[in-house]
Amino acid sequence: MLNQAVISLITVSTNTAQRLEKLGIFLIQDLLFHLPLRYENQIKNCNIGSLSPGQQVLISGQVEFVDILRRKKRSMICRISNQTGSIDLRFFHFNTQQFNALKPGTLLSCSGVIRQGYAGLEIVHPQYKIVTAMDLQPEQQILTPVYPLTEGIKQSTLRHLINQVLNLCQQQPELLIDYLPETILQQYHYPKLLDALQSLHNPDKNMRYDLLENKTSPAFKRLAFEEFLTRSLFMLQHKSQQQQGKASVFKTNINLKKQFINALPFQLTAAQQRVMGEIEVDCSQSKPMLRLIQGDVGSGKTVVAAYTALLALANHYQVAIMTPTELLAEQHHRNFSHWFKDFAYPVALLTGQLTTATRKQTLIEIASGKAKIVIGTHALFQEAVNFSNLELIIIDEQHRFGVHQRLALRAKAQSADKRPHQLVMTATPIPRTLAMLHYADLDISIIDQLPQGRKAVITRVISSDRRLEIIERIRYRIAQGYQGYWVCPLIEESENLDYEAAKKTFSQLSLSLPQMRIGLIHGRMKSGEKNKLMQRFKARELDLLVATTVIEVGVDVANASLMIIENAERLGLSQLHQLRGRVGRGSQDSYCLLLYQSPLKPIAQQRLRIIRSTNDGFKIAEEDLRLRGAGELIGTRQTGSQQFKIAHPDNDRELLMPAQQTAYHFLQHYPILIEPLIKRWLGAATDYAEV
Ligand code: ADP
Ligand code: MG
Repeated sequence: MLNQAVISLITVSTNTAQRLEKLGIFLIQDLLFHLPLRYENQIKNCNIGSLSPGQQVLISGQVEFVDILRRKKRSMICRISNQTGSIDLRFFHFNTQQFNALKPGTLLSCSGVIRQGYAGLEIVHPQYKIVTAMDLQPEQQILTPVYPLTEGIKQSTLRHLINQVLNLCQQQPELLIDYLPETILQQYHYPKLLDALQSLHNPDKNMRYDLLENKTSPAFKRLAFEEFLTRSLFMLQHKSQQQQGKASVFKTNINLKKQFINALPFQLTAAQQRVMGEIEVDCSQSKPMLRLIQGDVGSGKTVVAAYTALLALANHYQVAIMTPTELLAEQHHRNFSHWFKDFAYPVALLTGQLTTATRKQTLIEIASGKAKIVIGTHALFQEAVNFSNLELIIIDEQHRFGVHQRLALRAKAQSADKRPHQLVMTATPIPRTLAMLHYADLDISIIDQLPQGRKAVITRVISSDRRLEIIERIRYRIAQGYQGYWVCPLIEESENLDYEAAKKTFSQLSLSLPQMRIGLIHGRMKSGEKNKLMQRFKARELDLLVATTVIEVGVDVANASLMIIENAERLGLSQLHQLRGRVGRGSQDSYCLLLYQSPLKPIAQQRLRIIRSTNDGFKIAEEDLRLRGAGELIGTRQTGSQQFKIAHPDNDRELLMPAQQTAYHFLQHYPILIEPLIKRWLGAATDYAEV
C-alpha cells in the first residue's frame, strides 16, 4: 500500500501529485521520508518575567495600558502583564478600532518573537487574540515542522498528508516494516522506524530542540544510518551482480605486449607496471574487471589504459574510452592512433560536434566492429550508439562523471549473459570512508609514483596588480624557448562569459606581446579547430595558448612549462591542481603563476597557500576535504544519484563506517531485505542500474 503512487490517496489530486513529484515524492511512502527542513520552536505560556530576545513565544496577559507614541515614527504600545512580569507589544500599523479594543483589563493571548526594545523587551506586531481567561498552564514548547515546499504546495497540505500516512501506519503497523533488526537498534540505541518518523514529524513537547535543529537526534541518525546502509548495499549488490555475470577472457599475448612496450619512448614506472599486472590478472578471468586507477596528475594513467585496451584488442574485442571533454577525447584519439598504428587497430572518435555525415559513418563503423577503439565524450552512451563486440570500457577522469553515467555506459556493453570489463581512472583521490559511497563497486589500484625526472612545478601566488611585471616575465621566458598556457577561468557558469574573458585577455596579450605567437582556445570552438590549435601548440608553432578551463583535465603537451591562472582565487583546490598539472611534464623547470584579485577571502587565501606549498595530489585532496567538507567534495559535478534524501556525508560522517560494516552483515544474513530497502531509499534512482 505504501508502495502505491501518492495519487491513490483520496486527498491527492492529479495537480497535487504532479507538484509533489517536484519534491521527490512519488510514492505514498516518500511522504514519510520527506522530513522537515527545520522546526518552529514556540514556547507556550512562559513566564513573562524570564523571556529573552530571539525566543518565539506564545504568552497570555492582561492589558495594563495602551498608548500612541509620536516619536520618529508613530506607534501604538500596549503593555500586558501577568503575575510573572510585563512586556510591551508594539504596532507600527494599527487603526482606531484596534486601539479601542485593547482597553486596560482585557485578556490577550499573543505570539511573536521577543526583541530588545528601547525600554525593555517587546514584541513587534504580535499575532494576538482577545480571550476570556488567561491560560496559565506550566511552560511548554511547541515544535512545528517546517517542510521544504514547492510552488502550489502549502505547509498545511504537507503536514496533513504526512500525518494521514503516519496515522495509517500507526493503525496498521504491518504497512511500514522496520528492516533494521532488533540487535542493531539496540547496539546503536536507535528508535524503531515508526517511532523515529513520528518524532521527527511530530516532535513531542519534551524533545530537545537543539537535537532536532542540528539533526543529531537518535531518530534522525537512525534514518541517516539506514540510508547509508542502503546506498552501501546497493553498491555491493551491484558489484556482486556484475561479478556473477560472465566476461570475456583476455589472454595476454606476450609478443604484442613486448611490441607495445618497446615502442614507448620511455621506461614504464614500477607503479605503472604493477597496476598493469593487476589489470592483466583481472582480465584473464571470466568475471568482469571493475577497477579504479587512482594516480596523481601526470602519473601516466593513459598508457596503462592503452595497455589495457591492447589486452582486449589482441583478443579481437572492441574498446570504448569515455572522457569528460572533447579536447581530451581528441588528444586520446591522437595518442591511441599513434600507439596502435603498427597494430592496425582503427580508432574512431565520437563527440557531440561531428557533422551528421561523419557521425553516421562513425556509427556504422562502430556497429560493424570495424572501429576497434572508440573514443568519445558522453556522446558514447547515447541511444543510437551500438557496438559490435564491446568488451572493455575505460573511463578517464571519472570524478567528472556521475555514477549514473558510468553505469549507463556499462549497460551498453551488457547483454543477458555477458558483462564488459571496466577500468575507470581518476586523478582526484577521495578518502576511504567516502570511497564507500562512490566506488564500493570497484577494486582500487594506485599509481603512487611519477615518471622519473619530473621536477616539482614552482608555484607563485601574485596579485593581479602586477600584471605588467608578469607579462614582462613571460616575454623573457618565451624568448628563452618556453611555451605556456594563460588560463581565464569561468567567471560564472556560462560558456559565453567565460569565452568573453578569454577573448579579452587574448587581445590584451596580443597587443603587449606582438612578437609572440599567441592562440586562443575555448569550449565553443568546433572540435576540429580545437584539435588543430592544440596540434600547432604541440608542434611549437604557438608560444602561448590563452584558454578557458577547457584545458583543465588531461591535456598533455610536454614542452609547455608556464601556467598562468587568472582569478585563481575563484577556483577550487582540485581544479587548481589539475590545471597546474598541465605543466611540469617535461625535463625543464616549470612555473605556475596564480594571479588573484585583492582582497582575498580567508578561504581563498588558505587554498592558495595550500596549492603553493605542495604538489602532492593526495595531500591536496585531504586539505580539500578539510576545507570544504565531504558533501561539497563529492557533490561537485556529480549528478542526482549522489544526493541523499536525508543523510549528509559531513554531518553524518560517523555513520559511514558502521553503515558499511552493517552492509556486509546484511549481505550475508539478510539478503532478502536488500531489495525492499533499495526501493524505499533509492526508488526511481535505481532504474539505470537495472538495465
Ligand atoms: P595522467 O596520469 O595525468 O593522465 P598522462 O597519462 O597524460 O598522465 O601522462 C603524462 C605524460 O607522461 C604523457 O606525456 C606520457 O606520455 C608521459 N609518461 C607516461 N608514463 C611515463 C613514464 N613511465 N616515463 C616518462 N613519461 C611518461
Ligand atoms: Mg589523464
